[in-house]
Amino acid sequence: MFIRPCEGTITSRFSPLRKNPVTGEWKAHKGVDFGKNGSPIIKASEKGIVKRAEVIGGYGNTVILTHIVNGKKYETLYAHLKSISAKEGQAVKQGEQIGIKGTTGNSTGVHLHFEMHIPTYSEGQPNAVNPLHYIIVPEVEEIQKMLVMLNYRLNVDGIEGPVTEAAIKSFQETKGLATDGIVGANTLEALKNEFALKKEELRMAVPKLTAGQEAIRQEAMRLKITDGNDSFKNVNQYYAWEIAVPIAQKVEELEKRILELEKKLP
Ligand SMILES: [Zn+2]
Repeated sequence: MFIRPCEGTITSRFSPLRKNPVTGEWKAHKGVDFGKNGSPIIKASEKGIVKRAEVIGGYGNTVILTHIVNGKKYETLYAHLKSISAKEGQAVKQGEQIGIKGTTGNSTGVHLHFEMHIPTYSEGQPNAVNPLHYIIVPEVEEIQKMLVMLNYRLNVDGIEGPVTEAAIKSFQETKGLATDGIVGANTLEALKNEFALKKEELRMAVPKLTAGQEAIRQEAMRLKITDGNDSFKNVNQYYAWEIAVPIAQKVEELEKRILELEKKLP
């Protein structure tokens, strides 16, 4: 129902506590930040009515939209805009331009600070919810794909819902990270490392044996060169490092059998 309000990499997520880069104080970050890159156009995340379009304190140039979705009231807030192209009371369609990304108000660089509130925005953001629970973002989809690859059970839908958050928490627990369910820089790095390891592991896994290789493995088992739990690869390793003089004869026999089997194969 809601859509991503602009392009740009997610540079800061919704979190209960965060160090403010301007004031240095620890404070909750009740929204999501989208960085400078990509188109600077800010779009209405859902159809609605412009409630406010003005400077609101540290938010700088801000637009607040009111939405009714399935009978439920929401408000979205778009802050630090360079310019506003919507007027109070105006009806906007989903995806309609409402402003240009900027760095007005309490901001260190061009970005969009995006908030969502149920049912309404009020000072101190008591009703703020994590916007990523309501909008589809490719970054979340990538994270979900990695989690699925690491055997977490969840849907790859691009929405950071409670199941995804629980999987992130569980991953953070196994890695000894802060278990807040938020993918910050540390968690993302750990996730990427783990994913790379998993990919390597899968790449190294022995592919399904062909009929000929399976016959050879069976023969190697009969000759007790492998215990059968080992893959064909381990037969080769056995050849290379483990085979001592007493079983040299067995190897010779195996090699003969391999030759015979290979002749029979198409
Ligand atoms: Zn922000």
